[in-house]
Amino acid sequence: MKIRIIRSKKRRKTIQAREVDGTLEVLAPAGMSDKELEPHIVRLKGRIERLNQKSVLDDETLEKRAHELSNKYFKGLLRWNSIRWVANQSKRHGSCTPGTGTIRISHRIAGMPRFVKDYVIVHELAHLVEPNHGNRFWELVNQYPKSERARGYLMAVGLEEIEDR
Ligand SMILES: [Zn+2]
Repeated sequence: MKIRIIRSKKRRKTIQAREVDGTLEVLAPAGMSDKELEPHIVRLKGRIERLNQKSVLDDETLEKRAHELSNKYFKGLLRWNSIRWVANQSKRHGSCTPGTGTIRISHRIAGMPRFVKDYVIVHELAHLVEPNHGNRFWELVNQYPKSERARGYLMAVGLEEIEDR
């Protein structure tokens, strides 16, 4: 997270932080040095990151999004037991066990752009129908218009198609 410090003469003692487009804006009194500010920034940054983590790793939101995407690209015909975030998949973007209807999405995806997250969900949903990466599988996945772009993104960060089951 980038940090931008905004000093104001109107501020006397209070320090505030807010996130603006991925940058942490720290509002500080004019007379406070970087060194004095540092411990406050560390604390505020930690607090904001924890809040973000909580909201992006919310299983309920993930479940809701999966239903929206299932309705849009699979006519709402898919059934699964659970879709959850997991923190133990550092190389894979996700996994799907069609037999048990269990989908896991890597926490590494959580901070990525929406179109990438949606792609990963669509990819794992498609495995409920087609367990392998055959032509039929890609036909299903490519119904999602940003598939190619998202795969490029994942490849660039080393996460595409390293699923093993
Ligand atoms: Zn796959």
